[in-house]
Amino acid sequence: LASRMFHPEPTVVRVGNHEIGNGSATVIAGPCSVESREQIIQVAAQLKEFGAHMLRGGAFKPRTSPYAFQGLGETGLQYLAEASELTGLPIVSEIMDPSDVPVASEYIQVIQIGARNMQNYPLLKAVGRLTKPILLKRGLTATIDEWLLAAEYILHEGNANVILCERAIRTFNNSRTRNTLDLSAIPVIKDLSHLPIIIDPSHGTGVARYVPSMSLASLAAGADGLILEVHPTPDQAVSDGAQSLTPSEFNLLMRQVHHYHAAT
Ligand code: PEP
Ligand code: MN
Repeated sequence: LASRMFHPEPTVVRVGNHEIGNGSATVIAGPCSVESREQIIQVAAQLKEFGAHMLRGGAFKPRTSPYAFQGLGETGLQYLAEASELTGLPIVSEIMDPSDVPVASEYIQVIQIGARNMQNYPLLKAVGRLTKPILLKRGLTATIDEWLLAAEYILHEGNANVILCERAIRTFNNSRTRNTLDLSAIPVIKDLSHLPIIIDPSHGTGVARYVPSMSLASLAAGADGLILEVHPTPDQAVSDGAQSLTPSEFNLLMRQVHHYHAAT
């Protein structure tokens, strides 16, 4: 079902009146974690002003350590919903457990399946039974075929609205970057599948100053959009501060994205 062979036309995923995969670049931005009501509302207003199409923010956080901040849970989703109401930006947020599907359905417009859960089959089946768009991140060590088969689980349950997200894979990178961003996944996915693909250069590099170049490279390679971590004060972020852009850095990158699109 994910294959281009049986579905030659590119899939366009609709979120409200926005289209992902229609030839223009979709930009999703926001903090790694929802930290407080003020934080998310403040950053959402800036992101809207600078041209983001959707707001991201984690309420259920898949942290490497059980002692690290685990997210605000449903309270975080309520703050996101409030930020969405104020700005009109649809919400992209992760869930990790099939039992979170009902609460997610209430507050989230695009459900993110994180890298660590790409092969959480009960979760894939549960979101496959929805009609809501699903952002499926590539697993940390997943091959492209494993990733497409994970998408197949969602499609097979009847949900056609799958957006793939390359967020880099584990290689022998020597702590200079967090992961190795596989930009070649873009043309390969375009060859094999009709599903839209967006890139996450924030988790992809782990370093904020590498995010702009990798964002533009992603678009040059044919990506349908970007998901970017942006925090009002990255050095105070409870998670992923090192890879988060400030709102003004995001604004600068948005101008470059627009230049790029005007030039092509
Ligand atoms: C995130 O988007 O904050 C996240 C945890 O991403 P990933 O699953 O790609 O690590
Ligand atoms: Mn993050």
